[in-house]
Amino acid sequence: MSTSFLSHADAALRNRNTLLHFVKQNGPISRTDIWERMDISRASVTQVIRQLQEANLILEEGEGDSTGGRKPRFLKFNGAAKKLFAFDWSSRTLALTDLDGSFLYEQKIPEEKTASPELLFSYLNGQIDAISDMRLCPEEEVMGLSISLPGLIDHNTRTILHSAETGWKNVCLNDYFADRFGENIFLERIANTLALGAYHQLFSASIDHFQLMILGFDGIGASTVVCGHCRHGANYMHGELGHIKIPSDVRCSCGQVGCLEAVVRDAVLKNGGALSDEVMDLLSIAISTSVNLSDPSAVILVGSYVEKMTEEQKDRLIDLTRAKVTGERFREFEIRYADDVKALAFGGLAAYAFDRYFSID
Ligand SMILES: [Zn+2]
Repeated sequence: MSTSFLSHADAALRNRNTLLHFVKQNGPISRTDIWERMDISRASVTQVIRQLQEANLILEEGEGDSTGGRKPRFLKFNGAAKKLFAFDWSSRTLALTDLDGSFLYEQKIPEEKTASPELLFSYLNGQIDAISDMRLCPEEEVMGLSISLPGLIDHNTRTILHSAETGWKNVCLNDYFADRFGENIFLERIANTLALGAYHQLFSASIDHFQLMILGFDGIGASTVVCGHCRHGANYMHGELGHIKIPSDVRCSCGQVGCLEAVVRDAVLKNGGALSDEVMDLLSIAISTSVNLSDPSAVILVGSYVEKMTEEQKDRLIDLTRAKVTGERFREFEIRYADDVKALAFGGLAAYAFDRYFSID
């Protein structure tokens, strides 16, 4: 719906999707609150709510406090109404989940099946056939396929432009999945799905501006979520923080010298896999640079280096970072570690699919 003139049908669809997003974010909520807080006529709201209830996408929940007359019935989003197939690269897991993040089925994809796009995607297609044959849910409830992959991703055309990690170039998911899923194929880079998962699960979609940082052996990078949407940048390269330069002659996989992620990797390898004080300091440079650049109200840290850290190191990294942030005492921001990264990944894959499927852009 990117045209400047909306047809009546488009406008109705946008109203429906806008209301659905509103209830998902603010529910349980009364009809009165929806009328008062949304810029849609009362008649439209009533009609749209009825449609969404018929589609099982919103439900009435219990009864609220009576305000004198008729008791208001609260409405809430029903994520169980829609299912999706989701594949998360970082956990190499294929799942059939619903929009609430409940798993109907999950399986680990063997490492050898991930060697090339042809191999992985034909294997996923075969597994999706097999899962569909199990009849775990009515076919019409399946809204599409959501995938996270590493590298430079054009989410609009669902293309992996380039990935240093996998070596894949110009791979379009449509070529593999359009026969089954048509337009309903959703592709994002890993950091963005984790960030969206954090936005919905850790903050209940309540903060306007935060960052998720991956601190890992495979790379260091940031993902920024503003008002519920991931920043992509002009060239899908937002948040490439691992390539800021440190005085060092260590060569990076990108071809340049002194990239922070390469220097950290080198130091970790030389230290037998342990995180030295030098590494902790370098990581704090990455995080504080990111905070100085975009002034988030929260930073979530994940990644293989985080998994290696002792509790003491985790606290120390926060202290080191805060000491490097400009105007630290004038800022309100928190730094947190996420425990269940797989849950964030699938929460993000579902949230992203929801945002695209019920688009309000
Ligand atoms: Zn580099």
